[in-house]
Amino acid sequence: ASLGLKKLRVGMIPADGVGREVLPAAQRILEALGPSIPKPEFTHLDAGWEYFTRHGVALPEETADALQNDCDCALFGAVGSPTHRVTGYSSPIVALRKKLSLYANVRPVHSIEGLDPRPVDMVIVRENTECLYIKQETSSHSEENGREARATRLITERASKQIGRMAFRIALSRAKPDHPASLTIVHKSNVLQLTDGLFRECVRSVMKENEEWSDGSKIAVGEQIVDSMVYRMFREPEAFDVVVAPNLYGDILSDAAAALVGSLGLVPSVNAGDTFVMGEPVHGTAPDIAGLGIVNPIAAIRSAGLMLHHLGYIEPAQKVEDAVVSVLKEGVRTRDLGGNASTEEVVAAIEKRL
Ligand code: ATP
Ligand code: MG
Repeated sequence: ASLGLKKLRVGMIPADGVGREVLPAAQRILEALGPSIPKPEFTHLDAGWEYFTRHGVALPEETADALQNDCDCALFGAVGSPTHRVTGYSSPIVALRKKLSLYANVRPVHSIEGLDPRPVDMVIVRENTECLYIKQETSSHSEENGREARATRLITERASKQIGRMAFRIALSRAKPDHPASLTIVHKSNVLQLTDGLFRECVRSVMKENEEWSDGSKIAVGEQIVDSMVYRMFREPEAFDVVVAPNLYGDILSDAAAALVGSLGLVPSVNAGDTFVMGEPVHGTAPDIAGLGIVNPIAAIRSAGLMLHHLGYIEPAQKVEDAVVSVLKEGVRTRDLGGNASTEEVVAAIEKRL
């Protein structure tokens, strides 16, 4: 079901590095979809490391306000980071996730027939707000050890159930009439019995909230300890469908999964909550190729497609994906995929398909 919007108000936050090249590409693709989606209206917003170096703030209030009040969804490019600790700087993407309650990071990873050696078709659903990312670190000193450092890892019932529900919803949408979807809960509760034990228990507990989730014919629920999950994901990626994990494991797993399908330049994500969704390519600012016109725009274009999917525009999202796949198959590929096409050539080819 779509939102029934007259227009689609998209906040655009290119931020740093290649973010400034890939976001305009995604914009052109949304525009090329024509009447199959509400007419997109783009608001360009500031944020990022470079903005911080000029203004002393990484996420200006106007950006957060505009997203909250004047946008239906958003696209984020990539944010650079200082290599050393800079007083007053903190990542705008982390702040945005908090402000907009984007508690899930959803990353589909799938192979393309005839291009990738192995079949992969999975969705990693990563908890986006807690775990070690609460950044509560302390340091001390003892006679015996010298300097010591500790980090607090927070797992809550609220966030674990919330991400569990999101994972079940996504799994249900992937169930086929003759074949249940599978949902794998990733944890390490053999070692971390309280924290990972709670995560696992909470995800399992929400299953009972919905008949279609608990029915068993639509979703088969399983578990993997995180180390064996990595091993199995490389040995038999085709065994996995929807995977739900606490923040840090989810982060590591999704980069590893991206390695199964070629290039970081292909893998999209969305940061999603119950009321807002923000697309974001998985790659970073790629400083080594920024400004050269050769960055692969597909991760950002797919992120726009995924954003549409989450808003309920399933068919237009599929159109974007189909156009991307046919252009890749035609051989219009950037350097990261072994081709020699420019960013512009790839965008133009996808536009033409649409
Ligand atoms: P950051 O700190 O912002 O993450 P990084 O140096 O880690 O920057 P990434 O953006 O994470 O760089 O990229 C890692 C490598 O993958 C780089 O060599 C980069 O050029 C390449 N890469 C990443 N994204 C793309 C893309 N969209 N197209 C082509 N190459 C890419
Ligand atoms: Mg990086």
